[in-house]
Amino acid sequence: MPSVAFIGLGNMGGPMARNLLKAGHEVTVFDLAPAAIAELEQAGAGSADSAVAAAKGRDYVISMLPAGKHVAATYLGDDGLLAHLDDSTTCLDCSTIDAATAREVGEAAAAAGIGFMDSPVSGGVAAAAAGTLAFMCGGSAQTFEKARLILADMGKNIFHAGPAGAGQVAKGCNNMLLAIHMIGTCEALEMGARNGLDPKVLSEIMLASSGRNWSLEVYNPYPGVMENAPASNGYKPGFMVDLMVKDLGLALEIAARSGVDNQLGKHARAIYEQHQSEGNGARDFSSVLEQFQD
Ligand code: NAD
Repeated sequence: MPSVAFIGLGNMGGPMARNLLKAGHEVTVFDLAPAAIAELEQAGAGSADSAVAAAKGRDYVISMLPAGKHVAATYLGDDGLLAHLDDSTTCLDCSTIDAATAREVGEAAAAAGIGFMDSPVSGGVAAAAAGTLAFMCGGSAQTFEKARLILADMGKNIFHAGPAGAGQVAKGCNNMLLAIHMIGTCEALEMGARNGLDPKVLSEIMLASSGRNWSLEVYNPYPGVMENAPASNGYKPGFMVDLMVKDLGLALEIAARSGVDNQLGKHARAIYEQHQSEGNGARDFSSVLEQFQD
């Protein structure tokens, strides 16, 4: 069974590392927060006092960090992982970060002869715990064949999106579309409700018609329509408004760098930012419905 170093044990990384332990891997963990390390030790993981010490000699390194600067600091430079590992270790960064940093780290790894893939996920904390994440990977076909062996112990759908950075681009495209169709779904449901329609009946009509989409079908934003959706549980996340604003910023950065004028993406970001500025950052993103109710 391959050995794994897991770096970054937060809301997502913690449950992902647990699933690797459950699958029988020898897992060595590192996080800046000692409490996060202690929790994984209790679950059976070994620990180290730096990312390099955790990673040296392991078959895989998996990182799940907040942003591009943390990923760059972990992998690049004299103290970074790439300067201390060899081609026997495959590195998978599952964080959601800017595509430019993902490409930079991917290219530095290739130059050092180390397999690396940006491998961001779709699915939140519940999917991380259930082992049902989707992974979108950017890097070589050869590294992807190794990556899928270990990612299968944390997720269900594993895609090779293209070369270095392509995983982050795929994630940006998906989350921008999600942001937009959630807003469209909110607008349609609110318009129906204000005209006397029951949002549940209207949802059934649109689900059988051409307005059908994931927000309507799986994550209905109107309270009371879908028992298990955040909307029916006080908009407890789920997927926080703060993270949606972060992901829209990354998506629009990709658009700007490639000369694409994403008009709806920009408009969606302005609406989520407005919602965030009204104290809703830690609520589920489907609470954006309230922007159309006031
Ligand atoms: P989090 O803030 O809960 O966890 C991040 C962890 O990384 C923390 O434990 C922190 O101490 C640790 N850390 C920070 N810098 C470090 C370093 N240099 N070395 C070692 N550890 C370090 O964040 P999260 O919710 O687990 O999200 C992680 C990533 O996954 C983010 O990029 C996020 O955008 C993405 N993501 C999150 C969700 C979600 O629903 N939470 C869903 C999909 C993707």
